Amino acid sequence: MSTTPLNLDAIEARANAATPGPWMADGHEIYGSGCGVLDIEQWKAETLRIEDPEGAKADAEFMAHARTDVPALAAEIRRLRAELAELRAKTLTTEADEIVLHCPDHSPQDQDGVWMDCHCAVAEDMRQRAAVTAPAAPVAR
Ligand SMILES: [Zn+2]
Repeated sequence: MSTTPLNLDAIEARANAATPGPWMADGHEIYGSGCGVLDIEQWKAETLRIEDPEGAKADAEFMAHARTDVPALAAEIRRLRAELAELRAKTLTTEADEIVLHCPDHSPQDQDGVWMDCHCAVAEDMRQRAAVTAPAAPVAR
């Protein structure tokens, strides 16, 4: 398994440069479509598994669907990455608030009887990391 993050910009650029979808498979051949109907004038490719006709059909189905599946997967990854970044930022901020709340020197609450050192510098570091991981404003497409 790759540990390199997916380059979604490159993946989407390749998808956007290809003939618009959806594409459709007919047997082992792949065609473009207009209004969801296979367009014989938009022949794209054919798979060549002469010894395995069912496998050739499966390959063609996969390739035809990749035209719409890849952009959908890239969009879902972007959505999930943004959601993860938002949750990370919220968690860091919540934990930073909790640290400050229990600080004997800086908490707005009465801390009589509670002994601990001031960890507000740690809380500030967490807030800065939250600001870095917070998602950027959505890009209009
Ligand atoms: Zn403090």
